Amino acid sequence: MNKTAFYFFIGFFFFFTSNCYSKVQLKEQFRTDSVSKPFNIIFLIGDGMGLSQLSSAYFYSASEPNFSRFPVIGLSKTQSGSHKITDSAAGATAFSIGKKTYNGAIGVDMDTNAVITITEQLSNQGWRTGYISTSSITHATPASFYAHVSSRIMQEEIAKQLVYSNVDFFAGGGYRWFMNRSDSIDYSDTLLNRGFFLDTNSIDTNPDSKASRLAYLLAPDGLQPKHLGRDDFLVKATEKGIGFLDSKEKPFFLVVEGSQIDWGGHANVGEYVIEETLDFDKTIGVALDYAVKHGNTLVVVTADHETGGFTLAAEQNVGPFKTINRDYNSIVPTFSTGGHSCTMVPVFAYGTFSDHFSGVFENTKLYAIFKEITSK
Ligand code: MG
Ligand code: ZN
Repeated sequence: MNKTAFYFFIGFFFFFTSNCYSKVQLKEQFRTDSVSKPFNIIFLIGDGMGLSQLSSAYFYSASEPNFSRFPVIGLSKTQSGSHKITDSAAGATAFSIGKKTYNGAIGVDMDTNAVITITEQLSNQGWRTGYISTSSITHATPASFYAHVSSRIMQEEIAKQLVYSNVDFFAGGGYRWFMNRSDSIDYSDTLLNRGFFLDTNSIDTNPDSKASRLAYLLAPDGLQPKHLGRDDFLVKATEKGIGFLDSKEKPFFLVVEGSQIDWGGHANVGEYVIEETLDFDKTIGVALDYAVKHGNTLVVVTADHETGGFTLAAEQNVGPFKTINRDYNSIVPTFSTGGHSCTMVPVFAYGTFSDHFSGVFENTKLYAIFKEITSK
């Protein structure tokens, strides 16, 4: 080897090793960062949101829906333990306890035994938890995460169980179940005594800094439908919930429900379904923006079941001699039932552990994944 070749070799050797070293350093840095930041989960449920509801966001939105931002998609089978077609109670309880149960069951198994939910387990392990809905907060979907009753109609008992739960944040409607009850008990004082800031007027108010927990109950029962004038409650409550639950020390699990996509389906009103779906999509954007900025966050979006047998059909009319003319350039939101259907529903995942959510699986698998990834 001549002199020039030797120096070239030495130079290359140092360049190569220092480059390797900086790559190792970078990797280590990333690992340390993600370990030092708490891992958070934001779980958004579009009640009654099947593939046509989802598709409506693409046909009726001016901009690209947030659904397009998810790299991982799955399909969830929604049958309950008692019926081919689930209700929202059994649907949400499948997510919260990981077992198929009967229609109407809230946080209980087929034999009405209470089963500890994923959010209760995590709360016991020091996670902060929160629930947001545009229905009453005691309605089947959110209730299935914090309450254990044999029937979803027991909303006064569900309200009581929420008051005595370990939840850190909740926002929705339903103050009548806490304050105008058949047993004349008013739970507002109990909420205050248990460290809550309570507001029954607006999601915009700022709690006094001493409040360790926040409660917003903004309507006697469900909130107003979006197409009849509800404001950006769901977006604002989600921003507020994330802002409150996010801390440097503790992880959080936030459940957000777009409750009224289902109600629009039951009512067979296309505008109702579409406006609720667009509102839900906007809310998903809040969760994704947080996950992108904060890192170490998992965002999962799904539905408990489809409602209305909803489809985006072609406009059709009957011409001479009973011929049917269909205009494939004109969509008419169309329903086949006033109830639920058993078609599969989409699952979207973004962020840490999102790769677990692809494929076709039972709704109970979401619980199993939450359990697995939070035990690591
Ligand atoms: Mg619901
Ligand atoms: Zn329903």
